[in-house]
Parts: sequence; structure tokens; C-alpha cells
Amino acid sequence: MSEHLGFIGLGNMGAPMAERLLDAGYRLTVFDTRASAMQPLVARGAQVAGSPAAVASTVETVLVSLPTPDVVRQVAVGTDGIVAGTRVKTFIDLSTTGPRAAQQIAKALEAQGITAVDAPVSGGVSGAQKGTLAVMVSCPRSRFEQIRPLLEVIGKVFYLGDRPGLGQTMKLANNLLSATALAITSEAMVMGVKAGLDPRVMLDVINAGSGRNSASQDKFPRAVLSRSFDFGFANGLMYKDVKLCLEEAEALGVPMWVASAVRQLWFLACSQIGPEKDFTTIVQCIEQWAGVEVKPPG
Ligand code: NAD
Repeated sequence: MSEHLGFIGLGNMGAPMAERLLDAGYRLTVFDTRASAMQPLVARGAQVAGSPAAVASTVETVLVSLPTPDVVRQVAVGTDGIVAGTRVKTFIDLSTTGPRAAQQIAKALEAQGITAVDAPVSGGVSGAQKGTLAVMVSCPRSRFEQIRPLLEVIGKVFYLGDRPGLGQTMKLANNLLSATALAITSEAMVMGVKAGLDPRVMLDVINAGSGRNSASQDKFPRAVLSRSFDFGFANGLMYKDVKLCLEEAEALGVPMWVASAVRQLWFLACSQIGPEKDFTTIVQCIEQWAGVEVKPPG
């Protein structure tokens, strides 16, 4: 019989990852606070549970993809949380929560005999759809070998060690680079357009040269030049990731001047453009100051 898994949080990332697990033959029991998010999976045979505890009383392995550390904490160890489940043995957190929350949650679950696995992911919605995410795992090695096959359904799996939080620290380092690339590419592109350069030509030059980065190669062509601003990640979540990274750096005694500026810019994007808006709208903050838009002439 195919393995039965729980999946909680079926948003931009969770839904395509859950779809891939169904495609690979896993059976799923799902839960999300939005009934509409569960509908497409139910149509494909997934069962619905009424709470995280109910999911964790049905299956031995529960994956979650949730927005913030507080939500993950509530779903994992709050009232009616996974910790109250009667069958669960493994909790896999695919969200970006930061190492501190991961360590606290792992400790509380461990006390109930549940192993926590850090498994934050990178690669965006398209990576989640294609199964090409980078999956950053920390947990006991023996548990890693057990869950590796299911994680390989969603992406390329990297084992970072057995200490809770290591996967999360890796993810924060990655996302700081991703956030910084998008912020600084926004400044460079707005400057060029205001001076009269064609943004399509600018991207061709940058991508053939040393300025090339994840924003110039992917985010700008797909979601900024088209003015669709629909890459699939919210400003509020990007701000959360940079903030978590700075908190971690401060706790470790590592200076981060550039990251501080990037955080300020995302704080502005959240307050001026909106926390729910796509993170590619960060360019609009710079555009509004400069009085130009990054779009092809005509
Ligand atoms: P999202 O807001 O689209 O999805 C979150 C889902 O969780 C929603 O469906 C929401 O209804 C559900 N939810 C919220 N509270 C809940 C609760 N108490 N119980 C059950 N369900 C609840 O977010 P997302 O973009 O899918 O991101 C999820 C996580 O993955 C975040 O931690 C994010 O930082 C991380 N991440 C996102 C991306 C991306 O490109 N979107 C990439 C890598 C990592």
C-alpha cells in the first residue's frame, strides 16, 4: 500500500508540493484554514482533516508549509496542534521559520517522542511545480534516510547536519542573497531606464556580464518587465526572512550592514505597496521616487 502522509498549509508553495506527492503515488490527508485551498487536492483523492491534531492522529509523517514562525509554532505545539496527534512520529517543516523557532519546536516535539525535521525550500513556485526546489534538511541521520525518498519528490535534497535549526540557517543565508539581488537589481534598472536605456537590452547585457543574478535572470523578465508582478512570494514573507536573518546574525555576533539596508527597503515595500503584494513590487518603491517605470519603451 502507498505511504500515507499529512500535509498542512496549501498556499503558493504547499499546494504544488502536495500535488507532486499525489503524482508520485503518496496518499494525503490535508488541512488548511482556507477550505478553498484544499479543494483541488480533495478533487484528486486527498482526505481532509479538521485540525493539525486530527492530521497527526491519522498519519506518522506530517509536512507543513506555513507562512510565519508563529503560525508554525501554533500548528506544531499549540492547542489542537500536531503534538496532540496519536500516530505522528515525524514532523517536517518546509516553511522558513528561522533556527530559533525550529530549535524550540524540535525540543517541545521531542518531549512527546516526535522527531522534528528542518526542511526549508528554495526555488519559488515554479520550482515547487517542477520538483526542482533546493531542500535544506537537518535532523537525525537515520530519520533523514527514511524520509529522503519523499523529499526527493519535491526537489534536490541537501543534508546539513543533525542539529535542529541548521537547515533554517542555510535557508536564511540563501534568502538574504535572493532578497538583496532583487533589491539592488531594482535600483540599477530604475537608474538605467531613467537615463534612457531599454530595460530589455539592460537585462540582456547584465545576464551576459558580471551583474547576472536571480532577479536579472528570472524575476525581472517574468514579473517586472511584463508588469504582471505575480512571481508568487509576498513582500511580508520576504521581509520576515530578512528580519529573521538579521536576528540570527546579531545573536551570532556577525555584522550585516548591507542586509540592514535591504530590510529597510522591504519594510517600506510592506508599508507603501502592501505586505500581501508580490515581492517583485519592491521595484515600485524605487520607481515612485524616480518617476519612471521599468517597462519596454512604447
Ligand atoms: P502562502 O501564504 O501562499 O501559504 C500559506 C498557507 O498556509 C495558506 O494556504 C494559508 O491558508 C495556510 N495557513 C495559514 N495559517 C494556517 C493555520 N493556522 N493552519 C493551517 N493552514 C494555515 O505562503 P507560501 O508563499 O506558500 O509560503 C509558505 C512558506 O514557504 C513560508 O514560510 C515562506 O517563507 C516559504 N517559502 C515560500 C516561497 C515562495 O516562493 N512562495 C519559496 C520558498 C519558501
